[in-house]
Amino acid sequence: MDLLNCIKEAGIVGCGGAGFPTHVKYGGGPVEYLIINGAECEPLLRTDRYIMKHLGEKVVWAAEAVSELLGAKECRIALKKSYTEEIKALESVLEHRKSKVRLAKMDSFYPAGDEQTMVYEVTGRTVPPSGIPLDVGCVVSNVATMLGISDAAEGKPFTDKYLTVTGEVKKPTVLHVPVGTSFDECIALAGGAKSKKYFVVSGGPMMGRRLTMDQASSEVVTKTTSGIIVLPENSPIAQKSVISIQHMLNRARSACIQCSYCTQMCPRHLIGHPLQPHKIMRKLSVSGDITSILTDKDIQNAAICCECGICEEYACPMGLQPKRVNQMLKGALRDAGIRYERDKDAVYRAVPEREGRKIPASRVAARVGVLPWYDLKIDDCAEFLPTHVEIPLRMHIGAPSEPVVSVGDKVEKGQLIAGIREGAMGANIHASISGKILSVTGERIIIERAG
Ligand code: SF4
Ligand code: SF4
Repeated sequence: MDLLNCIKEAGIVGCGGAGFPTHVKYGGGPVEYLIINGAECEPLLRTDRYIMKHLGEKVVWAAEAVSELLGAKECRIALKKSYTEEIKALESVLEHRKSKVRLAKMDSFYPAGDEQTMVYEVTGRTVPPSGIPLDVGCVVSNVATMLGISDAAEGKPFTDKYLTVTGEVKKPTVLHVPVGTSFDECIALAGGAKSKKYFVVSGGPMMGRRLTMDQASSEVVTKTTSGIIVLPENSPIAQKSVISIQHMLNRARSACIQCSYCTQMCPRHLIGHPLQPHKIMRKLSVSGDITSILTDKDIQNAAICCECGICEEYACPMGLQPKRVNQMLKGALRDAGIRYERDKDAVYRAVPEREGRKIPASRVAARVGVLPWYDLKIDDCAEFLPTHVEIPLRMHIGAPSEPVVSVGDKVEKGQLIAGIREGAMGANIHASISGKILSVTGERIIIERAG
């Protein structure tokens, strides 16, 4: 079987974002640069760093194999200059393999791992607004995706996930657990939460999903889970998450002083996109009815916001939430059937001030209230075999997978349990433990461990 089919059969999806099926991503046009994203964009997470430091041989093997598959002329593993141990580990692998893959060492700023920011950092090219890296001859994949591809080439489907559990837990750690393991079990594996009541972020503190304790209890590890962050119940992130949309809009309308810091520091604006959150805030403040401003070009630019959170977590001196406004506008634009259309004649170039406006990741961590856990040394990895797993059928962009097993069936780890729907974009899903199928719904398949 060729590598592309191995990737498809194994159910590999992008591990660094929303789970775009990798076999679809690799089926596009000519590629000049393959960029492997090892920036570990979000503060606190250590998953990608663990993989680069301890599993670099597999990452580099896959980077070489995918370069060949795509016909890429150049391949770079992009990571931060400050990752000295990871750089040392990867350089040793590259030298040993006499590899053509090179490292791209970036400043330690946020969001260095944003796909379009990374393409600019590595190649100097601006991906056009609402475009994809392939528009400028690039493909970007995460280091964890490379690990999955290396396993796929050895005949192992995507069944287990590396993730970081950190914050207010007794023993912050990296875990390697079957897909479908509960968040509660992951938190227990990290020694448990330090207090009885806590707040959880799935992913990183800037872009991750905010969850109350109860919500977190029904969450499971998916193919895209990169981390679980446990925070005090009264942390700034927890407090911000309970502000209602209406209150947020009222404040946006009444308190914006039009200083434009949100635009000056916006990473997408800095690489040359027409996104200007301060203009969105201004237009919002003069209109009582959101639907009446959806045809406005500045408002439509909300669609190209990557939701990095710099504007509201770092830039705004008034504590306003331009990112949340953009999220709300994206929904309204979708509901109104308005698709983003870029100016075909425009030339998109980074603004000259960009270099001076990169924000150090540590300052972002301090502003968002997670500095106490920023510099934790996390280099352990715990393995775990749960008594049951609940595997979601939607862990990727596209249609949910179609179950191919029934209640009572016995399955072996790695066996296909849900396939890609006919004619749809999607990804295969495999049993992450051996055992018996307990339940099959349109949402999840539950497997009880054998023995
Ligand atoms: S979240 Fe804010 S800073 Fe980030 S891309 Fe969107 S508007 Fe720009
Ligand atoms: S930074 Fe805040 S106050 Fe300044 S323009 Fe942006 S939203 Fe308004």
